[in-house]
Amino acid sequence: MLKRIFDRIISKLAVVRKSIFPKKIILNFHNLKDFRSADFGDVCTDLCGDVLDVGLFEEEMKWLNTFADFVSLNTLLNEETKPKKWLVAVTFDDGYASSLSYGLRICEKFDIPMYWFVATQFVIDPRSLPWWDILLHIAKEMDSLLEFDGLQGHYSFNLKYRSEKLRFFYLLSNEFKNLPPSGRDELVENLREAVKPYLDLPENEMVRPSDIANASRSPLLQLGAHSHSHPNLALCSDRELEREVKEGRRLLQEWSGQEVTLFAYPFGKRKYLDPRCPQAVLDAGFQAALTSEMGYINRNCDNFMIPRLCVDGRWDLTTFQARVLATDIISHIKSNR
Ligand SMILES: [Zn+2]
Repeated sequence: MLKRIFDRIISKLAVVRKSIFPKKIILNFHNLKDFRSADFGDVCTDLCGDVLDVGLFEEEMKWLNTFADFVSLNTLLNEETKPKKWLVAVTFDDGYASSLSYGLRICEKFDIPMYWFVATQFVIDPRSLPWWDILLHIAKEMDSLLEFDGLQGHYSFNLKYRSEKLRFFYLLSNEFKNLPPSGRDELVENLREAVKPYLDLPENEMVRPSDIANASRSPLLQLGAHSHSHPNLALCSDRELEREVKEGRRLLQEWSGQEVTLFAYPFGKRKYLDPRCPQAVLDAGFQAALTSEMGYINRNCDNFMIPRLCVDGRWDLTTFQARVLATDIISHIKSNR
């Protein structure tokens, strides 16, 4: 409640910035779903900020279109002068099919260049379901006791209760994000075994290589690398890190024929990176790398730690407006908490 009032005040205060102090900002989206038609369930919308209603996405683009110019990511990053108007670049991460079926379709409607950072392992292997989608699927579908061995102990969740679904999702998300690739894969296997008697896990919702080849023909779409298996890069060995950074780009270039020059870090936050990560991206020949740390683009930005506003599916339009217009104020408040 307090948060909503805060966002309302911020969006009112910040409205003057729409015309007087224009900024450059990169937005980041993940998975879009139609909340009206999908049997999505309110549990999932509470749980995962990475899933956004397609109707809301369209409203957000429509609102931006009233005062901002949509530009390509390269234009935004290379524009040296202070903008006279707001400049917005739109990025999608991970490689969900919805980025094309909904995202690109709406981008075409508003003539928005779209930069798409794809993690390639999910594209190659339909059975490779990202752990966060496994957690979402289990939280949504299971209503019984779930017990399994985690890597640090035994877990037990009574998924009949909403509070337990939340505890399951957040506790496991935190554990997954802090595991090296081998530990992550082991925990995924343990989970798969544990739920086998109760439900079948579906194939992932990502595009396949042929979709990427077709989509790359759109003049509005540009591809970027997002690692191969979407690990916590800071917990990769040097060899794993190098492979993750290079393999994703190699495959995307092979499928699309496009040159891939930008990289977006998996999970995107500073806390999941170490100094080897930007260095590995630089050494691999990328021109720049993007994070999910909040901020506007200005000439002080480090080319390998470029900020983006990661748009949360749980925000309403007012909160989105507040976040866009006052990204710097909100990130300042957050960092001083
Ligand atoms: Zn990602």
